[in-house]
Amino acid sequence: MGTRNYRRKTSHSENGPGDGGRTGSWRVERPVIDRNLCIPCKRGKEACFICWLFCPDIVISRTIPPTINLEYCKGCGICAEECPTKAITMVDEAKFAEEDKE
Ligand code: SF4
Ligand code: SF4
Repeated sequence: MGTRNYRRKTSHSENGPGDGGRTGSWRVERPVIDRNLCIPCKRGKEACFICWLFCPDIVISRTIPPTINLEYCKGCGICAEECPTKAITMVDEAKFAEEDKE
């Protein structure tokens, strides 16, 4: 049998958005991406995506621009901490309360 095709013969699970429930309800601060500072936005091609790599809830897309699924973003701030250009700012959720009602 060998080990060459072991991936097809074993099962494994990977975590994904929503595995921890609706973690977005925990959030007190919301990450906001400044596209003027975001590397893939500025270059118009796939690059960086360190925020995508570090987000523990896998809620940042690897797209141009990167987007954040706020239903599951818990507001931990790791993406903002790791972003090399400081393109992500954590903003108080209260500032969005009125916007979200509309
Ligand atoms: S880590 Fe910062 S610069 Fe890199 S893709 Fe994410 S938001 Fe853009
Ligand atoms: S704050 Fe950033 S790292 Fe934390 S869950 Fe939200 S998108 Fe992911």
